[in-house]
Amino acid sequence: MPAAPTLIVAVDIGATWIRTALADGRGNLHGKAQLPTPRDGTADEILAPLFAATDALLASRAPTAPQPTAIGVAAMGPIDARTGTLAGRPPNLGDGWRDLPLGPALSNHHNLPTTVGRDTNVAALGERFYGAARGREDFIYLTVSSGIGGAVVSDGHLLTGAHGFGGELGHMPVDLSGPPCGCGLHGCIEAIVSGTALARQAQRLQLGDDARDLLAAAAAGHPEATKVMDNARAAFAQFAVGLVNAFDPSAIVVGGAVAHAEGERLLAPARTAINDYALARARQDVHVLPAALGADNGLIGCLPLVREHS
Ligand SMILES: [Zn+2]
Repeated sequence: MPAAPTLIVAVDIGATWIRTALADGRGNLHGKAQLPTPRDGTADEILAPLFAATDALLASRAPTAPQPTAIGVAAMGPIDARTGTLAGRPPNLGDGWRDLPLGPALSNHHNLPTTVGRDTNVAALGERFYGAARGREDFIYLTVSSGIGGAVVSDGHLLTGAHGFGGELGHMPVDLSGPPCGCGLHGCIEAIVSGTALARQAQRLQLGDDARDLLAAAAAGHPEATKVMDNARAAFAQFAVGLVNAFDPSAIVVGGAVAHAEGERLLAPARTAINDYALARARQDVHVLPAALGADNGLIGCLPLVREHS
């Protein structure tokens, strides 16, 4: 791997927030800031606040700090990582986002080489080099938040697939008679354990509008909420067994807001199920670990992302 760049501009573009920071070669973030993700408007109107944020970030740099040498971007999908351009339109965002050339636009604006990666892949790189998966060549990163994202690192390489979309683990069906999923199938893990799915269950049980309302009710012993969460945890555990059998990882690292809130309530059943049901050779010494970098893993992951492309 080439030497670590001294300083880069890191950008994490999510459906709700755009986060920016300067990242140094040791994985430290400086001048962290965030702005709401513009939902509507033309491409120029969407890019203007992004440019304003990265301009402000560069202006905030300490006079003694080195010049940033590159820009790394973790972006929500669908993204064509080869061109740094969105491949279509992210769900729930306006038409100005369609095919938005994020990478080329940032590169032109700042005159710096820019590398764009899918958010979950970049988060996995962050965990691999600076977080819970340090030193691991074979692991799976999962984010359980409003959706479920995944990334597979095998023999030190991110699995990208034939079209660059490899690792979309959230649409793995685990229950043929499960709830309908946004993708058209039934019983995808995302339709059962994601924040969106749990929020829907909270509404059905008239507990509130948010996944947190369901989690709180389950924690307080509400019988129906407990049943929903027991089912969700069992589905996640079965999903983890399938991942171990399919990819033979040495670890499954789990991040995202729902996973963070659930902690061991989500991870412990997965460990037990792997131990009980995964194929004997694959299940040896598989670690199920919480992500270590929290919401910063997308920003910190921009460092190895840029390194891999320099
Ligand atoms: Zn699905």
